[in-house]
Amino acid sequence: MKKYKAIFFDWDGTAVLNRRSPVDNVISKMIPLLDKGIKLFIISGTTYENIAGGSLHSLIPVNCLKNLYLGLGRGAFNLGFNDSGELIVLSGAVPDIEMRLRIDKAAFDVHKYLLKHYNFRTDIVFSRPNYCKVDLMVGMDREDKLYLQNDEIGKVQDLLLIHGYTDGLAGLLELAREIGKQNDIDIIPTTDAKYLEMGITTKGDNVNYFMQHVVEKNSITSSECCFWGDEFRFLAEGVPGSDAYMITSLSSGCDFFDVSGETTLLPDNVMGVGGSIERFHKFLEQQLNL
Ligand SMILES: [Mg+2]
Repeated sequence: MKKYKAIFFDWDGTAVLNRRSPVDNVISKMIPLLDKGIKLFIISGTTYENIAGGSLHSLIPVNCLKNLYLGLGRGAFNLGFNDSGELIVLSGAVPDIEMRLRIDKAAFDVHKYLLKHYNFRTDIVFSRPNYCKVDLMVGMDREDKLYLQNDEIGKVQDLLLIHGYTDGLAGLLELAREIGKQNDIDIIPTTDAKYLEMGITTKGDNVNYFMQHVVEKNSITSSECCFWGDEFRFLAEGVPGSDAYMITSLSSGCDFFDVSGETTLLPDNVMGVGGSIERFHKFLEQQLNL
């Protein structure tokens, strides 16, 4: 295994099993790497409060925090820590109210379109900082596991077909883009099968910010960076998984690893290593000993 100077990773399903799982295990493996000057980047769709209950800064020694960064909320926030170990916003992409209302309206228009033409019901979560979540499987509760579950892709495709919608998840992404245009916004839609997410940024915006402002500034090369996730796989043709958005023009020369166990449906430059969170933890341990 190569030695890396910058490690980007997804949180739910890659670093921890779910939000109620203990975080001590992964944090204990992160601390010595941070202490050695390795840059760690948590790239997640969630908020700071949902990572270690918002207490990450209190679990890691102050001198290590300067090497830890978080790219959260699908491109909404890029966070770091100051010398006193306080969380600081390095940059953000939270839309103003006018833009926000256009995103909300576009999501509602998708809801109305599916209901009117297909009698297909959705729920919408409006409270995310810069995007809406359109729930495509309203009867299904993921409980604490807020990531793609087994057979969800089949379930949502079946549900769409039952309602006469034959264009699948790729069709819904296109629909979201079209309806965005009608509302004068360039929606970048993504989906994890249960949710169609409609926003103006993605994990790729977090990655690009850190590639420019941390990786390049510290003279770290692409070949010294790696990315870990559990949702790189294509959900269907033309429908990349949420972690695949970490592959951008600035990061494409880096190494990518998927711990989900999927091997055939991954983007070309992603290596399927399987092994779930334990595989990622083992990788962190191995890095320390190189
Ligand atoms: Mg994940």
